[in-house]
Amino acid sequence: MKELLDEALRQGAFKAAFLQPEQIMLSADFRAICASNQCGSFGRCWMCPPSIGPIDALMAEVRRYPHSLLYQTVSAIEDSFDIEGMFAAGNAHAQMSQRLHAHAKVLLKAPFLHLTCGGCHLCAVCAKRANEPCRHPDHALPSLEGYGVDVYRTAASAGLSYVNGQNTVTYFGMILFGECV
Ligand code: SF4
Repeated sequence: MKELLDEALRQGAFKAAFLQPEQIMLSADFRAICASNQCGSFGRCWMCPPSIGPIDALMAEVRRYPHSLLYQTVSAIEDSFDIEGMFAAGNAHAQMSQRLHAHAKVLLKAPFLHLTCGGCHLCAVCAKRANEPCRHPDHALPSLEGYGVDVYRTAASAGLSYVNGQNTVTYFGMILFGECV
């Protein structure tokens, strides 16, 4: 299992930690937060609610995995109003998740679940907006919040800071799995 954590750090994670299942904090309340659509992706991205399915089923899926790795990336932004910087940091995090995903496919024996920051970020405009099929179904990753993960409380339970300094933005990802090779 340590190889997966080491790979996360090699691929650009600031920190990463393994979690016991009970350290993953879940809440169905996140579906209402997504539905308020403050990010603009609700119903406009195949990897966001409601397209990913009912939250109770997704939280049950999270609970099925005995092991998980939580990782975070930290990026510099100009200030707390730097929306472009935050979006660029989200893109960088999504790319890091993709690199780690490729290694996880080799390291993990059985199918695994990989959740990352919201909004997918793989295409400039999600195909969902034109009601067309996902262009990269083998690579697109859903978000932690979409599956009901309370990232703030889960990070705290893992000893990872949710905020990592002035003029930085922190994003999280999690790989849930059963066994390693
Ligand atoms: S890969 Fe592209 S089409 Fe598929 S969910 Fe992500 S952004 Fe949308």
